[in-house]
Amino acid sequence: MTARVLVVDDVIQNVKLLEAKLTSEYFEVLIAMNGEDALEIIDKEHPDIVLLDVMMPGMDGFEVCRRIRSNAKSSHIPVIMVTALDQTKDRVAGLEAGADDFLTKPVLDLPLFARVRSLVRLKVLMDELRMRETTGEGFGISVGTDLSRNINLSNAKVLLIEDYTRVAERIKTYMTDLAVVDVDTVESGEITTGNLDKYDLFIISLNLDNIDGLRLCSQLRSTENTRRIPILVLVEGGDNTQMVRAMELGVADYIARPIDKNELVARAKSQIRQKRYADRLRRNMQKSIEMAMTDAVTGLYNRHFLSTHLDNLMSKENEKRKKVSLLMMDLDKFKLVNDTYGHASGDEVLHEFARRISNDIRNIDLAARFGGEEFVIVMPETNLEYAHFVAERLRMSIADEPFEISGSESPIPITVSIGLAIAGDENLSSSKLLVAADKALYKAKERGRNQVCNAD
Ligand code: GH3
Ligand code: MG
Ligand code: MG
Repeated sequence: MTARVLVVDDVIQNVKLLEAKLTSEYFEVLIAMNGEDALEIIDKEHPDIVLLDVMMPGMDGFEVCRRIRSNAKSSHIPVIMVTALDQTKDRVAGLEAGADDFLTKPVLDLPLFARVRSLVRLKVLMDELRMRETTGEGFGISVGTDLSRNINLSNAKVLLIEDYTRVAERIKTYMTDLAVVDVDTVESGEITTGNLDKYDLFIISLNLDNIDGLRLCSQLRSTENTRRIPILVLVEGGDNTQMVRAMELGVADYIARPIDKNELVARAKSQIRQKRYADRLRRNMQKSIEMAMTDAVTGLYNRHFLSTHLDNLMSKENEKRKKVSLLMMDLDKFKLVNDTYGHASGDEVLHEFARRISNDIRNIDLAARFGGEEFVIVMPETNLEYAHFVAERLRMSIADEPFEISGSESPIPITVSIGLAIAGDENLSSSKLLVAADKALYKAKERGRNQVCNAD
């Protein structure tokens, strides 16, 4: 995996060193020697990740980081702070300023590559989600998305896997303000806690008596309901091999023992924020997809979805020579409803109509809004007699009970005309099926409305 890395440092030797290391691992390197230049390059070049020195004359690293975060165009770019000393105070200040991670000078190869790769992997995923969301917007599907990183961190839930009870208790205390922490001591050699998908974060010790912590990480990464939950591992101080193996397995972050409270809280917070951000993007995407398939007034599938579905269904059904029945329905004299009670009341009628027909069909049937006051129901594996029976029942469920509308004191009588066509043994295309049903509907209208007619 290659990526564009921006290295920001005021000392040329540091820049050259990092550039050499990263280039040898096939990363593309951009360079800035001060904060202002860094922000300009970020604005123009959109790097995948920024390695940011803390101590710089003029604008220091914390300030640069804050500005990266507060600009909507750059707020999603991962930032690794590079601190001169192994100072917890700086680390925490960096994370508070919005940095995703930090490295200590002199920068060692393994942690450098591990952290850069891990953050780039995350960014690739997030970029993909962001892009799909933007595509949705391009189709006119606006879900009022907030792409910023303002994330609500309340009610966070953490599962801690640690068999050393005293350490577990201490970690719980450290985290009281941030999250509810459940502890699993994996005594039996496996996780016994249920409902793992409710957690925002797993914290896993890599020094467990009864199971290899790395194996646990790998299991959680490969299981569907836990793969999106970040893992923070606890490693022995100075054990780089363990840390690198963990990062290769897809662990999000690590903390070296002895555990510092501020660092733990800051790292946990950053992971929970990332997780919730990704969840939100995913949810919004789901919503965009739903909105692209459904009609807003009635909540039924829209015409585009219906056509696609019908094409799929018929190509499959034709092979199996099974029967697909299709009902084309059109509300009678609906213009009159609009003219008498107003357009909003008309919408209410459409909504209630959709509700009634949805309630009256099977799960395998599909109801769609075909146009203004025209609806289609597709019934797979349904013969003519049964389809006609359903159509009659639907017709009556509309005609027998007038519609209660907020704009009218007495309920409004509504009727519907229905055309029925069936694709049987002959190789009928989906569009021909629709045309046949439409002709049958026309016949129902001609014969006086409020009735079901079969196609010839
Ligand atoms: P017919 O029995 O021949 O079908 O008569 P009709 O009045 O239902 O048919 P016509 O095609 O003349 O009119 C359809 C009306 O449906 C006109 C249009 O204003 C209304 N309509 C279409 N879409 C909507 C909608 O989304 N909301 C509302 N309130 N009315 C709609
Ligand atoms: Mg009509
Ligand atoms: Mg019409």
